[in-house]
Amino acid sequence: MQIRRASFPTDAPHPPCPFEHEDSPCFQRHGHYKRNTQPEGSGRTRIQRFLCKFTGKTLSVLPDTFLPYRSINVPDV
Ligand SMILES: [Zn+2]
Repeated sequence: MQIRRASFPTDAPHPPCPFEHEDSPCFQRHGHYKRNTQPEGSGRTRIQRFLCKFTGKTLSVLPDTFLPYRSINVPDV
């Protein structure tokens, strides 16, 4: 799952977990990947990924200029 950074408080160390379970906290850093900053493929940005230790699902936190699952930048929309 991908979310934008603006979707949780700036002082929070990690996003709230969107996956259903009762225990918390659950997230730990789980590596990163690189994503193109421009739709035509130029530039690279590091995307932090978190792992929910109870569900085994991952969550990626995108900069606010990115849209989840789309290669279109927010200023272009
Ligand atoms: Zn969780």
